[in-house]
Amino acid sequence: MGFSELGLSEEALRAVADAGYHQPTPIQEQAIPVVLQGRDVLGTAQTGTGKTASFTLPMIDILAAGRAKARMPRSLILEPTRELAAQVQESFKVYGKYHKLTVALLIGGVRMEEQERLIDRGVDVLIATPGRLLDHAQHGGLLLGGLKVLVIDEADRMLDMGFIPDVEKLVKLAPPLRQTLFFSATMPKEIRRLADRFLHNPKEVSVAPPASPAETVDQQVIYVDAGNKRPALRALLKQHEVSSAFIFCNRKRDIGVLTRSLVRHGWNAGELHGDMSQPARTETLESFRRGDTKFLVCSDVAARGIDIQGLPFVFLFDVPTHSEDYVHRIGRTGRAGMVGRAITLATKPEARYVGDIERLIGREIPLGTVAGLSEEEPDESEKAGSRRRKTSDKNRNSAATRPEARPKEEPTSRPKEESEGDVAQAPKPRRRRRSSDSPGNARAESKAEQKSDSPVVGLGDHVPAFLLTRMPGDTEQETEKPPRRRKS
Ligand code: AMP
Repeated sequence: MGFSELGLSEEALRAVADAGYHQPTPIQEQAIPVVLQGRDVLGTAQTGTGKTASFTLPMIDILAAGRAKARMPRSLILEPTRELAAQVQESFKVYGKYHKLTVALLIGGVRMEEQERLIDRGVDVLIATPGRLLDHAQHGGLLLGGLKVLVIDEADRMLDMGFIPDVEKLVKLAPPLRQTLFFSATMPKEIRRLADRFLHNPKEVSVAPPASPAETVDQQVIYVDAGNKRPALRALLKQHEVSSAFIFCNRKRDIGVLTRSLVRHGWNAGELHGDMSQPARTETLESFRRGDTKFLVCSDVAARGIDIQGLPFVFLFDVPTHSEDYVHRIGRTGRAGMVGRAITLATKPEARYVGDIERLIGREIPLGTVAGLSEEEPDESEKAGSRRRKTSDKNRNSAATRPEARPKEEPTSRPKEESEGDVAQAPKPRRRRRSSDSPGNARAESKAEQKSDSPVVGLGDHVPAFLLTRMPGDTEQETEKPPRRRKS
């Protein structure tokens, strides 16, 4: 099917042709005609599938007729992070170049007064992060009663970041007679319940099973000693003649250490994480996009959903403890049908998380090698360890899954409440401060990252000391302690 069969205007088609697109992606094929009909959409799609254009293109045509009134935006797009919001704004520039729509970005880290001036003039498309938007709405500077179209994007990420209460408040301020487009990379129960409340008779469109990694990404896992990870990474960069890559770490402090180490060894590297100020984040990303910075050492929180055209490589310096993060990390490469490669560096104790990931994605990740370094391959029992240990921990000590029974420094790279079963059993979402978008997302993101500042151990798997005592006949890995971090 070609773009011309989707019902888009001549102007939109011209903009698409200028962008160099020949064929709509599956999500575009399914969603665009439905959105143009005025129907609600419930979309399961990851970033990298062409999801943004699937809602921006028809919105541009829907909003082409009519004028915005002061302080009453005609459409609203909610994004979990400032980077994603800025990326959607870019899409409107690209796809809306033959239209005269006013588009405004409302994100934390920018002065409220400047944003108020924009809103006062009247905007057709408002793209915002929830916290900052709610600040404006509650100050009376922004009226959501005129919304024709409401987009809630990356809903599962909103849940991760504790934004859902804000989203619910915002939806209450929107008129009941509106068109709602709701997208999520995954569809856990909590998200589906929200969708049921926000959407009216939606058309469901789904382009990839919730947790399947992009088909085009060539994946490998390489087992190395903890102390060998940095040399291994450098060797791999040379071995594969990598021109540019994202390098993901689980812990924020490792991002700085690794970046400095790479720079010391002559690599052109920068860092990106939620503790950085917004201008610093924007500048780092821009520098990477321009090609001035070649390697970006980053956290999940900062890099999720970021679209860098033609990124050839992603390295996972640590194995993510939440399997779904793996899918998002590798999804930075191999986007929009291009070939990409993802190499994970794992230690033996991390094998359990590799096992979890393989169960989630339904396939084994091939083992790779790194020239000149000794690799240690775990046996199958190590990969199976995670599931076994979780079950037996439950039996031993059910309190271990409660927040108060967890170690103070949680090893997870994102909040626990995410997609782990029923809301009623999940820990209460952490309260967010108002004005939390200023410095906002950064604070929420930083909090999420703070949790990951500890060695890679089980998910709150508190194992009583007596169980760790080595007994005759115990295997090595069952009593193994998490690796100590070495200073570089
Ligand atoms: P998204 O999933 O919206 O983040 O889009 C991922 C990437 O795909 C972006 O770089 C888009 O520019 C690109 N893209 C979107 N639609 C198409 C298309 N029909 N053909 C080729 N590339 C596309």
